[in-house]
Amino acid sequence: MYDPLVDKAPPSDQNQPDSFWVSGKSADAYSPLSGSHKTDVVIIGGGYTGLSCALSLAEQYGIECTVIEANQPGWGCSGRNGGFVLPGTGRLSVKQMRERWGKPVSQAIYAEYLESIDSVNQLIDEGIDCERGAGGYLKLAHKPSLVKGLHEQAQELAADYGDSILSLSEHDITTKYLSGTKAYGGIYYPNAFGINPWLLCQGIAKKAASAGVNIVGNSAILDCQRVNQKHVLRTETASITANTLIVTTNGYGQRHLHDGLKDRTFPVISSIIVTEPLTPQQLNDVGMSIGLMVMDTRPLKYYYRILPDNRLLFGGRGAIEGKQASHAKYRDALKNGLVATFPSLHNIKISAFWSGWVSVSFDDYPRVYHDKATKTLYSGGYCGAGLAFSIQAGKRLAQMHCAPEKLPDLPFWQSPLQKFPLAFARRPALKTFYAWEAFKRHVGL
Ligand SMILES: Cc1cc2nc3c(=O)[nH]c(=O)nc-3n(C[C@H](O)[C@H](O)[C@H](O)COP(=O)(O)OP(=O)(O)OC[C@H]3O[C@@H](n4cnc5c(N)ncnc54)[C@H](O)[C@@H]3O)c2cc1C
Repeated sequence: MYDPLVDKAPPSDQNQPDSFWVSGKSADAYSPLSGSHKTDVVIIGGGYTGLSCALSLAEQYGIECTVIEANQPGWGCSGRNGGFVLPGTGRLSVKQMRERWGKPVSQAIYAEYLESIDSVNQLIDEGIDCERGAGGYLKLAHKPSLVKGLHEQAQELAADYGDSILSLSEHDITTKYLSGTKAYGGIYYPNAFGINPWLLCQGIAKKAASAGVNIVGNSAILDCQRVNQKHVLRTETASITANTLIVTTNGYGQRHLHDGLKDRTFPVISSIIVTEPLTPQQLNDVGMSIGLMVMDTRPLKYYYRILPDNRLLFGGRGAIEGKQASHAKYRDALKNGLVATFPSLHNIKISAFWSGWVSVSFDDYPRVYHDKATKTLYSGGYCGAGLAFSIQAGKRLAQMHCAPEKLPDLPFWQSPLQKFPLAFARRPALKTFYAWEAFKRHVGL
């Protein structure tokens, strides 16, 4: 698999991601860049962030823009994720946000999270068919000592943050939500829902193209230069010149593409398996309520949901380097996790296995940033929780460019992503962390 810390650029001949979401579906094809072009705003990256930004620039502000994607829209994370539409991004809990910024700011951040879910719902209501479910999201304590903290979080969110989250006991969970695995307690977000994420991305691309956005496919940008106050971007055979550059490459962005982003995110692999459709007996044994999405509280989480055709999707950590990502041992490790979670599925067959690069930020928090001196904007560092938020971030990028005075006063857009100190040590450190977490899991900690 392409590796952003190793390869000079993504491949540009792969079209669609190798995820389950694409199978049996067709998509519009966007032509490559050829010759030399001019545009007002150029966006690198055809995932949710870039496409949502382009849609907003065209529809709301009448700005002429071009989105350049190495393959076809949704080839990155946006066509590979688990399809969990959740309120939130980054890795900070509400308590950590309150401690870092105080209560009014953390309430305003949470309001942004809720608005990001509204943004996804709005796109779907406007006609994007992406198989929206309605089962809510259960965060499951993986040990009894964590239940109290989760319940306190739910109470705080319900009382002060306008989200109707429920505290669930072991009995609530096993009788109403999930009976096929061990549960100690958890919290339930009724407004979260599952989708086919690749279809959502195709829908946004189509909508943006109809609004006049020029979407370019199969064109990896190899080089970005600032020449005479303009941005000049080159592919292998073509070039484009723009007044403003917006970089939305996130976990797929290579180290040397743009100096402003160098070593400010850490691409980390997350992997998913999808089983064959479960039989009625297997569904009964798993005992999940319809449309429910589940994640546990481990630092290296497992996440799972039953898809509309009764397959079980199960995700978690993957390899460390791109060259190992497709190795069967990572698929088997997920299968072992699945069977440990649902022992009744020990004979289940796996139909699909794929991986993608999530973008981790140094301080566990994303940024949407405008470098006014060079007319460059970017958004990234969602730490693997970016489906809904990236669509909101795309809208905010457009607003930041066209009407910054209207942005709500939030810490997301007040500073650049922090640079990783000792960036060369990111992967060795991750290896140590994975080994430690594997040991803890092995001894039942
Ligand atoms: C396995 C997995 C499961 C996940 N599950 C969830 C989930 O259930 N819920 C959730 O909220 N989040 C989830 N995420 C995270 C979520 O998918 C991302 O946060 C979100 O899709 C980010 O969108 P994006 O547009 O910013 O980036 P991407 O969708 O990654 O788009 C970046 C694009 O930039 C392009 N690009 C990079 N370099 C160049 C270049 N030089 N030239 C041209 N194009 C370039 C890439 O080809 C890519 O398509 C998951 C991620 C993974 C990998």
